[in-house]
Amino acid sequence: MSAPIVSSLGPEPWKAPWWKAAKGDRSTFLYLVAIHLLALIGVIFFPVTRWEIVAAALALTWFGGLGITIGYHRSLAHVALRLHPVVRHALIFFAMFNGSGAPDSWAANHRQHHAKVETPEDISSPSIGGFWWSHLRWLWQAGNVPLSRWCPDLDKPEYRFWNRMQVPILAVSLFCGVPFGPAAFFWLGPMRLAASLHVQCFVNSIAHMRPHRREGEDSSQNIAWLGILHLLQGENWHGNHHAKPWSARLGWKLWQSDFGWYAIVLLEFLGLAVKVRRPDVARFTGASSAAPSSGSTPPRAPSCSPPTHPAPRRRA
Ligand SMILES: [Zn+2]
Ligand SMILES: [Zn+2]
Repeated sequence: MSAPIVSSLGPEPWKAPWWKAAKGDRSTFLYLVAIHLLALIGVIFFPVTRWEIVAAALALTWFGGLGITIGYHRSLAHVALRLHPVVRHALIFFAMFNGSGAPDSWAANHRQHHAKVETPEDISSPSIGGFWWSHLRWLWQAGNVPLSRWCPDLDKPEYRFWNRMQVPILAVSLFCGVPFGPAAFFWLGPMRLAASLHVQCFVNSIAHMRPHRREGEDSSQNIAWLGILHLLQGENWHGNHHAKPWSARLGWKLWQSDFGWYAIVLLEFLGLAVKVRRPDVARFTGASSAAPSSGSTPPRAPSCSPPTHPAPRRRA
């Protein structure tokens, strides 16, 4: 059953001018323009600052990254593990403080991406809409995917609460550095938010721009250098992820740093994470002749693979 992109810009919104926002997404577009302009001003006037401010910006980015990769991606979108409610909602807060939006819409977009990859129904496909579509434009031009189809399991008061908190959290996130001076404002606010945005968006764009692939393979790929920008938290192993999207572990080899996974192992040890799903990494660690020779890209999942979450249920 199809779930086409619903956008007021038409059935192929990537053909619309980039500055046109879909109905209901104008505020998203204006917010993105604003943080980019402010970030540019910050880079020009405050290219360097005190180490305390840099450390605070990195710390917020670190916890924001864990919020996205463990909280939103591995736990909520793929149900690769179950988190203690306190940990789950703390990670949701950090993800929202990092500018990633509410958990239900994030999970819905992502589940549709996996289920419809390499088709016009993939909400952020570079092979369909090009680099800038997959990197940014879909955020304000693709419209909303139907939550009732893609994440009925998140249609609960505990997640709807976060929808109401979006604007307040984002406002605090943007202006949290103001009490500490102008440099802190730019570094902790727009510069951090713009940098975090692009780092995440690279997963949708360049991690899906694999130049050589066989018939029936999807475009996802592992990109080692992207791991530096992701603070080694594992999202850059996107080829691994598409091969086994149900796995809570993204870096399968010892050299594939995945601090998201290390944190999950720690949470599991502490009893704060259960039902952690593990890949059969023995095939990819050199223990088997089946290991890929390059070590960089695992066997591919077929394109248009089925949803990787519990089968969506329709509302009565
Ligand atoms: Zn992907
Ligand atoms: Zn995923």
